[in-house]
Amino acid sequence: MSLAEITARIETATQKAGRASGSVHLIAVSKVQPNERVAAVLDQGHRCFGENRVQEAAGKWPDFRSAYDNIDLHLIGPLQTNKARQAIALCQSIHTLDRPKLATTLARLAQETGHCPDLFIQVNTGEEPQKAGVLLADTDAFVTMCRELDLPVRGLMCIPPVDEEPSLHFALLAKLAARNGLDQLSMGMSADFETAIALGATHVRVGSAIFGARTGTA
Ligand SMILES: *Cc1c(COP(=O)(O)O)cnc(C)c1O
Repeated sequence: MSLAEITARIETATQKAGRASGSVHLIAVSKVQPNERVAAVLDQGHRCFGENRVQEAAGKWPDFRSAYDNIDLHLIGPLQTNKARQAIALCQSIHTLDRPKLATTLARLAQETGHCPDLFIQVNTGEEPQKAGVLLADTDAFVTMCRELDLPVRGLMCIPPVDEEPSLHFALLAKLAARNGLDQLSMGMSADFETAIALGATHVRVGSAIFGARTGTA
């Protein structure tokens, strides 16, 4: 599928949901994709991309930034505290704030550098032991903690369990966000972004549907 097709499907889903045109951001997830495919999407004018590893982002995005203006880079994978400084320097948004230690580290770096990316708190809506994210019962307290640290928390993010109906998780995330006065929702991937938009997604993270299947592992 092409970027234009995905953009059109996002617009249709947005209208169907009775939402304002352009209210859903498409994060083109470029992890593990060859640079030529990423450049082709940049050449079509798209500027919003997602990477799931700091190391990989650091390897390719500085060069793209010198060649293209206004790149908006989102970190959508787990962030180790020892990579936080690098992540802040590279990314405009981080979607995977998921624990107090990372929150305090980001707050310290924000103080020191005078700058912090927009943040999403990742919620483990499926309560999966192997998955990152704050547990449901801890979410409200964690949002409060991040606010007390003056972190720019904009919204919530989730990755539903692969074998479950994603709409239940999207609806749950929307409810948690509303309860905490957060209006941005990072949810929906190639297989389910239209469902996510119907349930209020403001940021969809779409990789393979734009770039084709990933050849490496992510
Ligand atoms: C890889 C990835 C995506 C994109 O997945 P696709 O199914 O290729 O669209 C979205 N979100 C996260 C967190 C990812 O790691």
